[in-house]
Amino acid sequence: MYVEFDRDTCVGMYQCVAEWDTFEKNLNDGKADLKGSEEEEDDLFVVEVPDSEEFDAKFAARSCPVDAIEVYDDDGEQVV
Ligand code: SF4
Repeated sequence: MYVEFDRDTCVGMYQCVAEWDTFEKNLNDGKADLKGSEEEEDDLFVVEVPDSEEFDAKFAARSCPVDAIEVYDDDGEQVV
């Protein structure tokens, strides 16, 4: 499972930070940061999700009010 984070869309509400600690606040930018991720395209960050954190990652995605977080299974099928 992996997460795609559209940082350009993020408006810094930080619900995701409360759900999954791989997201952290970046108060300077007014955005979240996705720890350990790689920037795949401009402002699109991707990170693998450890099995033990899948539940939290999905919750973080559901909590985002602007749908900046998407979750995909290993086949590339979007699950959230
Ligand atoms: S919940 Fe969404 S808008 Fe808020 S900080 Fe996280 S990614 Fe950004």
